[in-house]
Amino acid sequence: MTKNMNYNINNNGYYGEFGGAYIPEMLYPNVEELRQNYLKIMAEPSFKAEFDQLLKDYVGRPSPLYFAKRLSEKYTTKIYLKREDLNHTGAHKINNTIGQILMAQRLGKTRIIAETGAGQHGVATATVCALMGLECIVYMGEIDIARQAPNVARMKMLGAEVRPALSGSRTLKDATNEAIRDWINNPVNTHYIIGSVVGPHPYPDMVARFQAIVSEEIQWQLKDKEGTDKPDYVVACVGGGSNAAGAFYHYLNDTDVKLIAVEAAGKGIHSGQSAATSALGFEGIIHGSKTLLMQTNDGQITEPYSISAGLDYPGVGPMHAHLYKSGRAKFMSITDSEAMTAGLELSQLEGIIPAIESSHALAILNQKAFKTNDIVVINLSGRGDKDLQNYIDYFKL
Ligand SMILES: *Cc1c(COP(=O)(O)O)cnc(C)c1O
Repeated sequence: MTKNMNYNINNNGYYGEFGGAYIPEMLYPNVEELRQNYLKIMAEPSFKAEFDQLLKDYVGRPSPLYFAKRLSEKYTTKIYLKREDLNHTGAHKINNTIGQILMAQRLGKTRIIAETGAGQHGVATATVCALMGLECIVYMGEIDIARQAPNVARMKMLGAEVRPALSGSRTLKDATNEAIRDWINNPVNTHYIIGSVVGPHPYPDMVARFQAIVSEEIQWQLKDKEGTDKPDYVVACVGGGSNAAGAFYHYLNDTDVKLIAVEAAGKGIHSGQSAATSALGFEGIIHGSKTLLMQTNDGQITEPYSISAGLDYPGVGPMHAHLYKSGRAKFMSITDSEAMTAGLELSQLEGIIPAIESSHALAILNQKAFKTNDIVVINLSGRGDKDLQNYIDYFKL
């Protein structure tokens, strides 16, 4: 590991060699407007006050840092769960959509667009648009619309319009293309809410800053409980990387705290059905940033696979590409079956049914031994209600 490295973004929008804004010329004014204003707006006292108040009264923050006693006994170490599953709408995603809707308002935008794969980000976006009374259009692949009917119904009930992406494989990347096309055609009144630490600069940094509330809370909550604000380990699953970015954020430059990022190995890293980007990916450009992604030798993006819809992404955000490349974070990968088993175990040891994404982070307890006195914070990114049918089918419940 390189000493004295800075793991935050630099002035040019890069984390090490990753990041930047590789966008079509026609998108430049929109992205540039955001880049010039996001830090200024986030620093305004009125912005901070409104963000903090909504996180408290609407999202339900601070989310508890829960000492998981029975889980800790089983793995003979001290395990704390950061309970993002208890947030309104059931996951960490709302932290970012609240931040971005306030940003959109400050920029004078009246129309919101988003893309969604499994529908979780679409629901979080539709929720904050309802909250603020803004028009909301969510692009979603036609195939995903059919697979994710409950989330489509939620978005409609919240007043959003769900527009099907009919081209290509009719999944997430096609929905992203449609959203970008929309933004190019509506540069003045529209803000595009991206759901993870991906996309052109400044999105990865802006989303990481909105999610940073997670590690900000871990610091004071741990201080209360253990007398130190530093755990030995912070563990989080990585799809695009936003919940991990939030859980890592305030520890990035403190190498006493070890960071573990957990990817989905699907049916096995080398099975051809996986989303283990750090193991399989190499440098390329996706969604406007230079990062690690899974691709063929001629640069075509490989279709990813995971049982968990939120981890089913062919890349990782540029922050994580840099954390991997620099060795600052250790990357581990967990198969579908390992994750499902860990989800069942948490349910029965602690009475908490986790999202399958979060089950991936929990599953490393079976792969890596920790010392008795280690403090291990695992970010429980979401609750398992949305995954119940998956758990039912898998365990024949
Ligand atoms: C979307 C989602 C993820 C993956 O997204 P990140 O940006 O990597 O955090 C993880 N957990 C849950 C519960 C999700 O909904």
